[in-house]
Amino acid sequence: MAAALLRFITCGSVDDGKSTLLGRLLYDAGMLADDQLEALRRDSTKRGGAALDFALVTDGLDAEREQGITIDVAWRYFHTARRSFIVGDCPGHEQYTRNMATGASQVDLAVVLVDARKGLLPQTRRHTYICALLGIRRIILAVNKMDLVGLDADVYASIVEPYRAMAATMGIESVDALPVVAPEGDNVGLRSTRMPWYQGPSLVELLESMDAEVAPPQHFRLPVQWVNRPDQHFRGYAGTVCGGRVAVGEEVLVQPGGQHARVERIVGSSFDLAEAFSGQAVTLCLDRELDISRGDVIAAAAQPAPVADQFGCHLVWFGDAPLLPNRSYLLRLGTATVNARITAIKHKVDVNTQAPLAARRLELNEVGYCNIDLDRPLAFESYADNRELGGFILVDRQSNATVACGMLDFALQRANNIH
Ligand code: GDP
Repeated sequence: MAAALLRFITCGSVDDGKSTLLGRLLYDAGMLADDQLEALRRDSTKRGGAALDFALVTDGLDAEREQGITIDVAWRYFHTARRSFIVGDCPGHEQYTRNMATGASQVDLAVVLVDARKGLLPQTRRHTYICALLGIRRIILAVNKMDLVGLDADVYASIVEPYRAMAATMGIESVDALPVVAPEGDNVGLRSTRMPWYQGPSLVELLESMDAEVAPPQHFRLPVQWVNRPDQHFRGYAGTVCGGRVAVGEEVLVQPGGQHARVERIVGSSFDLAEAFSGQAVTLCLDRELDISRGDVIAAAAQPAPVADQFGCHLVWFGDAPLLPNRSYLLRLGTATVNARITAIKHKVDVNTQAPLAARRLELNEVGYCNIDLDRPLAFESYADNRELGGFILVDRQSNATVACGMLDFALQRANNIH
């Protein structure tokens, strides 16, 4: 059986070689068309090099960024003989954390790059910590630029061992490491012959063999995207199922309101369905008229989601201005948008030690644990159970910029907030 589609992102600091590795990966997988290769040869020569500059493959993004087009993550599709992949290219040096967090919330694997000359940097720890917060449990550590440290096994070991120890404390379950020279392709598509002390698989082999099947969330949830009411005879609630399954005739609960109903019809893209599963975009018709609007969640009646108007959560802050308690932001969770205020920063996290530190504010790229107040209750879940209903973003009202992403942890909620 063919392995499942694998989605991953690459993480690293500026100049660690992310673009080069990605370009080389696409090249080794044979994904560059003749005209792209021709352009790559031409542009590499123009830059004065005899060798191909693989970073140019992904350069289109830089051009778009310069034109002021906002790109969170550019998803690129590629495949090998064994498997298909979608890799998230997270652009932007200043906004890198924001883009990485956006990408990380949609993947189950990250390739973390380290420049062998620099070793583990604070950014490496920060990126790994954010990956862990966003639910990534598997990491491939690519120690790049091995040619610049004499292809030395000891340098490699001096990076990999502490990285493994650090990642384990953050809840990362598996770290596969490998030494790489991205422009030359050592251990990218093929195993390197220049580093015989490394006997493991190449990056492509590792990616092909990675088990990344994530079980979809268990309980039925449909965040309502819009109410479809073309005439008085039809009223349907459209959205994408983000957990479990539902069948015609089953009892559901509309949250946060708490109204019960039965599913009368499930309308798919071209015909009616008997049941719908996680990931499917459908329209549900219920057996009675209810006041339902965008942002409500239709849930399995027997397994309702918790509902609250205040909760504690982890926040990754990427606003240019610091997070100040009591300022009002827009919070987007599932399909809901509500007004939110951070009432308290309980602590910020020292990403080097993961120790909680006292904090009056959160600065760019800092992670903290905060209490949030909403102007109305929402149905939510733990991020670990359901990323759609457990993760949210905060938007600054004036600039309209996304300033933070947040992850809820139900186990950490104060029980008296939940009704
Ligand atoms: P990014 O900012 O992480 O995307 O880094 P780039 O891919 O743009 O690479 C930064 C610079 O490092 C470029 O000049 C690359 O050619 C160079 N580079 C990348 N990987 C290697 C490597 O393995 N060895 C050497 N010698 N240079 C590399």
